[in-house]
Amino acid sequence: MSKCVCVVAEYRAGDFRRVAYEVASEGKRIADILGTNVCAVLVGSNVMDKAPTLGRYGVDKVYVADDPALENYLPETHVPVIADLIKKCDPALVLLSASVDGKDLSARLSARLEEGLVQDCTEIVVDGGKIKVKKPIYAGKCLAWSQWAEGAMPLISCRPNVMSCMAPMEDKKAEVEKVDVAVPQARSSVTGLELDTSGRVGLSGAEIIVSGGRGMKEASNFSILEELAKLLGAAVGASRAAVDSGWRPHADQVGQTGKVVNPNLYIAAGISGAIQHLAGMGSSKFIVAINKDADAPIFSKADYGIVEDLFAFIPALTEEVRKLKSTCS
Ligand SMILES: Cc1cc2nc3c(=O)[nH]c(=O)nc-3n(C[C@H](O)[C@H](O)[C@H](O)COP(=O)(O)OP(=O)(O)OC[C@H]3O[C@@H](n4cnc5c(N)ncnc54)[C@H](O)[C@@H]3O)c2cc1C
Repeated sequence: MSKCVCVVAEYRAGDFRRVAYEVASEGKRIADILGTNVCAVLVGSNVMDKAPTLGRYGVDKVYVADDPALENYLPETHVPVIADLIKKCDPALVLLSASVDGKDLSARLSARLEEGLVQDCTEIVVDGGKIKVKKPIYAGKCLAWSQWAEGAMPLISCRPNVMSCMAPMEDKKAEVEKVDVAVPQARSSVTGLELDTSGRVGLSGAEIIVSGGRGMKEASNFSILEELAKLLGAAVGASRAAVDSGWRPHADQVGQTGKVVNPNLYIAAGISGAIQHLAGMGSSKFIVAINKDADAPIFSKADYGIVEDLFAFIPALTEEVRKLKSTCS
């Protein structure tokens, strides 16, 4: 059998991130084409119990480094340990997630392993045994295809929420090998104390996003979007105009200089649809735009366009969702 496909499973705050399952499923799809196995690399603290569950997403074997010092992602500790585990797998290619941490990790691994990386890929094909990847460039205006030279080990980071996640095979467990690794002493002068994940749904992996723009008029008006988002289990995003006005933190900004998101549903309220905003959300699976200007460019991207005053429409929509939820429960 040829060399395996290796996936780096992103883990945070006691569980895998959804993107870990997407990357594992994509690894399985490619491994099936290449006629090989999927191995995974898992790094964290107290992760042994969770490791076999990756089998549900097609992983055959998991190499685990479990150490309290690996609780939260830190380049100084994680990069050398993950690099060692990848070498142990000796794979044909490595798939990672293009989350914020995943992009940082991928770039550092590329330098450490001296292998070529393509970040933020949205499609992977196997063409005559060769791996080719597609990624949007120039704020999504063009799509670039890349491939690797003979003998290289491709490193590919996958854009979250793009690769489809397989239906879990409930009864399948992956084999687990705990690897004793020497965790380097973090040299950083900064120590991570706590990761608070109890609050809002994060933008990057969110399945639904409700975003507001300059049309929201002021910071306090975002409460109507937050109310809707809470009912839908959605994250709240913003245009740069809203962020620059100080209405939302920069972490909420969607777009070329903010986050690139791919939710199943993106609701844009009071956002005109500038090219820089579309660069961050244009590949959402379903887009609903609410804007009182019928000529707003966002409507050219939207699946549903609502020409309305958002301050009338959003509360009415929230009320309907509330009613629907109460009849369903
Ligand atoms: C280098 C560069 C990078 C950039 N990066 C980003 C980025 O990452 N993300 C980003 O978003 N932008 C980015 N921008 C800015 C971008 O060009 C736009 O200026 C910005 O997206 C506009 O935000 P907006 O749609 O909220 O505001 P506007 O363009 O002002 O649109 C507001 C919209 O709200 C509508 N509206 C107003 N009142 C109501 C109401 N009551 N009900 C319904 N609709 C209403 C209006 O009709 C209008 O269409 C960048 C620009 C540059 C130059």
